[in-house]
Amino acid sequence: MFAHRCTSCTQRQLIFPSQVTSLVNTDHGIIVAFTCWCGADQTMLTGKNAGTPAATPAPAREDAVAAA
Ligand SMILES: [Zn+2]
Repeated sequence: MFAHRCTSCTQRQLIFPSQVTSLVNTDHGIIVAFTCWCGADQTMLTGKNAGTPAATPAPAREDAVAAA
């Protein structure tokens, strides 16, 4: 479970594992695809490599992956 701000309804919502439609590992991190409560398809990049240089760890994001 993780929080996400939807690009469609602009609400910050809790996303549950049952809403996740796919998890794809890439060199840049893990692309999580899910359906918002409003019905919009959303994606989020997560994992330790997401959006940061390799030298900058982002440990808080790993918790989101473990919960999903
Ligand atoms: Zn939404």
